Amino acid sequence: MSEIPAITVYGTGVNARTQCAHWHSERDIIAIKFKCCDTYYACIDCHREATDHAPIVWPRAEFGKEAIYCGNCRHTLSINDYLACDNTCPVCQAAFNPGCAKHYPLYFAQ
Ligand SMILES: [Zn+2]
Ligand SMILES: [Zn+2]
Ligand SMILES: [Zn+2]
Repeated sequence: MSEIPAITVYGTGVNARTQCAHWHSERDIIAIKFKCCDTYYACIDCHREATDHAPIVWPRAEFGKEAIYCGNCRHTLSINDYLACDNTCPVCQAAFNPGCAKHYPLYFAQ
């Protein structure tokens, strides 16, 4: 966990808490950095609409990298931190959407 104040999150209709046009509940407040373009997007649909390449999932060997951004406290988490956090930000205790777990294969190697 480290503070990186100048992260820009891209996507469709993204707001300051990283909610987007596709996912915008109170708990949809994380963004994910994509390995393919080293850019934070609010979700995979945002990535698809903004790019013309297929997303690349993070390989397990790189789960130590900071690739998750909490839109509530603006800190980044490693993928390992995120997968172990039980849907609660370890920095600010904000609740993350537990439904995101269904989409892990879109982002992280299984
Ligand atoms: Zn990409
Ligand atoms: Zn989106
Ligand atoms: Zn947080």
